[in-house]
Amino acid sequence: MAIPGSGLAKGLAVTLRTMTRRSITDQYPDVQPELPPRTRGVIGLFEENCTVCMLCARECPDWCIYIDSHKETVPPAAPGGRERSRNVLDRFAIDFSLCMYCGICIEVCPFDALFWSPEFEYAETDIHELTHERDKLREWMWTVPEPPALDPAAEEPKELAAARKTAEKLAAQQAAEAEKKQEDEA
Ligand code: SF4
Ligand code: SF4
Repeated sequence: MAIPGSGLAKGLAVTLRTMTRRSITDQYPDVQPELPPRTRGVIGLFEENCTVCMLCARECPDWCIYIDSHKETVPPAAPGGRERSRNVLDRFAIDFSLCMYCGICIEVCPFDALFWSPEFEYAETDIHELTHERDKLREWMWTVPEPPALDPAAEEPKELAAARKTAEKLAAQQAAEAEKKQEDEA
């Protein structure tokens, strides 16, 4: 059985203990908080990378990604080739009044078209304004932090290695051509 007044004594003990400590109140909005680099504030869309594969919209547990698109026929890359069709994005929107910031859409996007930005100051008085359309999602890309540098001991990314090899091959070809030209002129 609790001793009468023990709750009050406990409460006073907590008050006494904490009143001598330094306050840790953040002075937001006068002072901006120092957020961790991987903060989930808002989602940015890098439209150029989006192939309208719909994976993000299908995997979103809240069904709050809205995508509309149409198909376009692309002429063959080489004469005699076949025409191809590709999806063209008409609408890409995220309703942040429904989003639960799980990050699944960003994880599943196979083409690196979605990114977290630490921006969080986008409260609205009208809930409809929390549906950010593609232009607004693109604007958030400016606030996406740079990815951390690679570990110096890490393996070179495949894309970089391939690009470096091609550049070296081209440079070698050009050098050989220049040498041959000099020999011919001599
Ligand atoms: S973070 Fe989660 S809830 Fe929000 S849009 Fe992406 S998948 Fe949907
Ligand atoms: S998963 Fe990525 S590429 Fe596919 S529709 Fe979503 S944003 Fe675009």
